Amino acid sequence: MAAFFVFYRAFDCKIVRLSLTLAIVVSPNSNRITMKYKSTRGGVSDLSFTDALLMGLASDGGLLVPQQIPDVSDQLDEWRDFTFVELAQHIIGLFVDDIETDTLNLLVAAAYATFDHPDVVGWKELDNLTVVELFHGPTLAFKDVALQLLGRLFQHVLALRNQRLNILGATSGDTGGAAIAGVRGQENVDIFILYPKGRVSPLQELQMTTVLDRNVHCIAVDGTFDDCQRLMKETFADLAYKEKYQLGAVNSVNWARVLAQIVYYGYASLKAPSAAEFSVPTGNFGNVFAAYLAHRMGFPIAKLIVATNDNDILARFFATGEYAVGDVHQTLSPAMDIQVASNFERFLYYYFDEDSERLKAFMADFAKHGEARLGSAPNTGLFQSIAINRQQTVAAMREAKDRHNYVLDPHTAVGYVAAQQLSNSSTPVMCIATAHPAKFPDAVVEATGTVPTHPSLDALVGLEQRKSALTADLQAVKTFLAKAISA
Ligand SMILES: *Cc1c(COP(=O)(O)O)cnc(C)c1O
Repeated sequence: MAAFFVFYRAFDCKIVRLSLTLAIVVSPNSNRITMKYKSTRGGVSDLSFTDALLMGLASDGGLLVPQQIPDVSDQLDEWRDFTFVELAQHIIGLFVDDIETDTLNLLVAAAYATFDHPDVVGWKELDNLTVVELFHGPTLAFKDVALQLLGRLFQHVLALRNQRLNILGATSGDTGGAAIAGVRGQENVDIFILYPKGRVSPLQELQMTTVLDRNVHCIAVDGTFDDCQRLMKETFADLAYKEKYQLGAVNSVNWARVLAQIVYYGYASLKAPSAAEFSVPTGNFGNVFAAYLAHRMGFPIAKLIVATNDNDILARFFATGEYAVGDVHQTLSPAMDIQVASNFERFLYYYFDEDSERLKAFMADFAKHGEARLGSAPNTGLFQSIAINRQQTVAAMREAKDRHNYVLDPHTAVGYVAAQQLSNSSTPVMCIATAHPAKFPDAVVEATGTVPTHPSLDALVGLEQRKSALTADLQAVKTFLAKAISA
């Protein structure tokens, strides 16, 4: 396994060096497309793709979206036989106006060469449901699909611009490891990940702290995930500090993450015999928002099931049109223990027909009162949502193991139950599998009585670790970053 990764890392460096050479000799004007980005809040527009990539959150506080959504319906017949990588190159190419096509194609191919499944995505039929396994990347969660590409895009763009970036992220588990795996060893990037001490799973912690590259900084914060996220937001909110220390973001507010995720919805939808329904285990609404864009582009998608755990703010919204924060519940699917989904603003923006004023009024209401309402249940003709509790999740994991000898991770299980409850029996149904079960052994043991394993996780046990510890204090975080960046 180790040799496998070493091989790909060496292979990768060559590709990036080659891509840099190509980027210099081929003029960017050879691109076929024009694509610009704007903010949902109306204060930013006409950004190039790479500007959007580096900006992360829009500077007016909104989220960046493409100025138009390409319609690909005419191309689907030709695209049906593409490999995952070919389809990724075609779809992503439509949204990138300032990286030369050949270079972009090399970066995309290198990103997915790190996956250990020949088709990148894995498939498993369980009765009339198809599980779409997105966990074959280096850290065994779907976040690798976007973050393997994001890391390579940063590397390429920063080298061309002769710029540095210091990434600051907060993680409740999967994002940290995937983001670190995407940028480890890079010259122009340092990455700082805040995680709640003792509250991420031991394996998730090892996936971060055993990466000893000089540019990786894991910070165990004496506090909760909410503390970590607050510390990150408050650090970004100090604009002078953000500028001085060249801070960047890797959470799913970054447009490039959503973009990379459109690909597997397109790919899976083209495998189905007719327009498919997708069930998506949802936290920050990034994954299912990518599915919405795939639908808007013309891929055959009949329904999107937004599956939540006990943190049901989205299920309540789709049922009533009321968007109201509740208490955060700890569940078996911690990556979905989120009340305020950061990508939901992108959905609302399209729901309001790209009217920034209506969106701003809704978000201002929500910020002020902790709730905002549409007046009635949203009529999208596409989305349905349901909240799945702990008992249903455990029962589904047990059922899949007993009947199919297939182990679901607890996040995927939430989507699996939602699909069983809401899907239409005459339509192909795809369940998005967001993590390998071995990342969440406690839940799997509780449900099935067997310990799930994966060689890449086994290999982490006993390795040397490096991490720092901080109190949940803004000044402590800022001082730590400043010192490490200046060093
Ligand atoms: C991040 C994550 C989710 C939630 O995805 P969103 O894009 O935030 O909706 C679901 N499952 C797993 C395993 C995750 O890591």
